[in-house]
Amino acid sequence: MPSASARALLARIKTLEVENRRLRAQAGRDPLTGLHTRRYMKEVAGRMLALHDRDPTHPVALIVCDIDRFKAINDSYGHTAGDTVLKRIGALIRRGIRRSDLAVRMGGEEFAIFVSGPSAPGCAVLAERLRQAASQIRLPGRARGHDITLSFGIAFHRPGESLERMLARADRLLYRAKRGGRDRIETEAIARPVRRR
Ligand code: GH3
Ligand code: MG
Ligand code: MG
Repeated sequence: MPSASARALLARIKTLEVENRRLRAQAGRDPLTGLHTRRYMKEVAGRMLALHDRDPTHPVALIVCDIDRFKAINDSYGHTAGDTVLKRIGALIRRGIRRSDLAVRMGGEEFAIFVSGPSAPGCAVLAERLRQAASQIRLPGRARGHDITLSFGIAFHRPGESLERMLARADRLLYRAKRGGRDRIETEAIARPVRRR
């Protein structure tokens, strides 16, 4: 029969093991939305782009998405209501993407989704689905009746282009969507499909 102090030690080890598993599962994830962090993105998106550099038949699309007039939600209903919206949008994105996609909370109320492979050229369909799903969100309490809308920018990777440049191009399109009235998607023309010679 182990002593009381030995039992306490074993219990402590058990707790640490559970905590360790939880942290490992969460590594690279934003705790509020469950989406990946910007830091994690740099590594994984970098690999996606490098793959496209080597193999032109493996395109990569980038959807950037920003919640419209989000500050007003915080200001009118409080920070907790704002956090609820972020969680709901995070859940929509997680449910809407494929395992081969990479979804990121870029910071604040801004998100990015990298879509690679055959579904990249058609990724505006995903953005449109998210736009419509967001408009269906019903908030609890005083915020009931407040409509959530999203704006999007979509860019397609050009072989050799850096992650930063691609992000900047997608951001410019997002900005255009904002200026154009929000609740919309601005996408660049789909890059011509590349055939292997
Ligand atoms: P726009 O349509 O132009 O995007 O306007 P906006 O109000 O969405 O954009 P703005 O950049 O003015 O405001 C973003 C707000 O997001 C301000 C900031 O306090 C809030 N915010 C950032 N991170 C969090 C968070 O983790 N939780 C909550 N509740 N609010 C956050
Ligand atoms: Mg916003
Ligand atoms: Mg923003």
